[in-house]
Amino acid sequence: MSGQGESGAILTLNAGSSSIKLAIFDVAADGALKAWRRGELREDGAGQRFRLKDAQGGLLADEIWAETRFEASLDHLLARIDTELAGRHLAGIGHRVVHGGAGHRMPEEVTPELLELLGDLAELAPLHVPHNLAPIREIARTRPGIRQVVCFDTAFHRTMPAVATRFALPREFERRGIRRYGFHGLSYEYVSRRLAMLSPRVHGGRVIAAHLGNGASMCALKGGESLDTTMGFTALDGLVMGTRCGALDPGALLHLMRWEGLSIDDTERLLYTRAGLLGLSGISNDMRVLLESTEPAAAEAVDVFVHRIVREAGALASVLGGLDGFVFTAGIGENAPEIRERVCERLGWLGVRLDRAANADGAPVISTPDSGVEVRVIATDEEAMIAEHVRDLPIA
Ligand code: ADP
Repeated sequence: MSGQGESGAILTLNAGSSSIKLAIFDVAADGALKAWRRGELREDGAGQRFRLKDAQGGLLADEIWAETRFEASLDHLLARIDTELAGRHLAGIGHRVVHGGAGHRMPEEVTPELLELLGDLAELAPLHVPHNLAPIREIARTRPGIRQVVCFDTAFHRTMPAVATRFALPREFERRGIRRYGFHGLSYEYVSRRLAMLSPRVHGGRVIAAHLGNGASMCALKGGESLDTTMGFTALDGLVMGTRCGALDPGALLHLMRWEGLSIDDTERLLYTRAGLLGLSGISNDMRVLLESTEPAAAEAVDVFVHRIVREAGALASVLGGLDGFVFTAGIGENAPEIRERVCERLGWLGVRLDRAANADGAPVISTPDSGVEVRVIATDEEAMIAEHVRDLPIA
C-alpha cells in the first residue's frame, strides 16, 4: 500500500440511494491532486447506466449495464475502474458517509471494527448510510489489501457550539444522539478552503454558504468554520429541496399520522420523496423545469424556495452578528442566475449589492465593488475534498 504523499491514484466513491458517483484523482509526487476521470452509475429502467468522463468533461463511456443486483453492478464497476487505472498504483479509496453521529468527527481509515460501529449508526440515516456502507463492505471483502477511508458529511459541523446543536427536548434525548448534526459538510469544507484562497479577508470573517442542489442547506461560517447550519438531526430540515420538505412544524407530523392515517413509512416517503419543489409544484423536482414552466404552481414553488432561503439567511446572519460574504454553490447555486438574483435582491438590507451583469455572465464575484457583502459563486467538489482527506490522513 502507498504511503502518505506517495504518487499514485485515489478513487472516490459517493454511493447514494439510486446512484454511485466516482472520481479518480492522480496524486503527483508533490501531493497535487488532479481529477482525470469522473463518472456515475445510476439506476436506469431495468438496469444501470454508466457514464464516464475525462478531465476535460469529454464523454468516454455511456453504457447500459444489465445488472440489477447491487453487488453485481459494483463488481462490474470495480472491474471497469481497474481497466481505467491500467496498472496505475491505487493509493486508496475514499467514501462519503452521510452520517457520522456524535462520535465520528474526522475522516477515518476503515477497519472491521469501524464498519461494525458505522452499521449501528445506520438508524440515524436509514435512507443513506446503508447505501454508503455497501461498497465499503464489498471492497473490504473482495479486495482486502486496498486502503479505504471514510469521510463524514456531518464532520465539518463539529465546530458548532452546543446552543446550535441542542433541541429543546429533555436532556436524556441529547445523550441518546437526538441533536442537530448538519450535513453537506464535505461541500462546505471544500467551499471554505477555496474561499480562503480566493478571498482570505472574507474567509476570515462572517460568511453564509448556500449549497443549493437537489438537497439544499445553508451554513454560517465564521473564520471558515461552521457555526450553524439549516439541516439538523437529518437532511430533511431547513430549506425546501427537490423532493424533501425542509423545516416543518413537528405538530404537522403528529396531525398527519393521527388524523390523516399516515403510517410511519408513508410519512417518511411523503417527507423525503413527495415533498419539496415536486410536492409544491406538482410538476417536477428539477429547478430548470420549474423556471421554464409557465404554470402558476411552478412559479409558486420557486417563490417558496426563495422565501425560505431569505428567511434562513436572516437567521444565520443574526447568529454570525453580521455578514461579510455570501457564497452560492451546487447545481442551482452555480447555474441559476435568476435564483441568485432573487435571493440577493431580498438581502439588500444586509448590505448585499448585486452586479446583475456579472451574475448573468456567471462571473466568480457577482456583487458590486461597493457591496457591503462580497457575493461569490464557487463550484463545489465533494470528490476533491474526499480525495484530499485520503491523501492527508496518516496511515494507521
Ligand atoms: P445533487 O444534490 O443531486 O448533487 P445538484 O447539485 O446536481 O444536485 O443540483 C441539481 C439541481 O440543480 C436541480 O434542481 C437542477 O435543476 C439544478 N440545475 C442544474 N443546472 C441548472 C440551470 N442551468 N438552471 C437552473 N437549475 C439548474
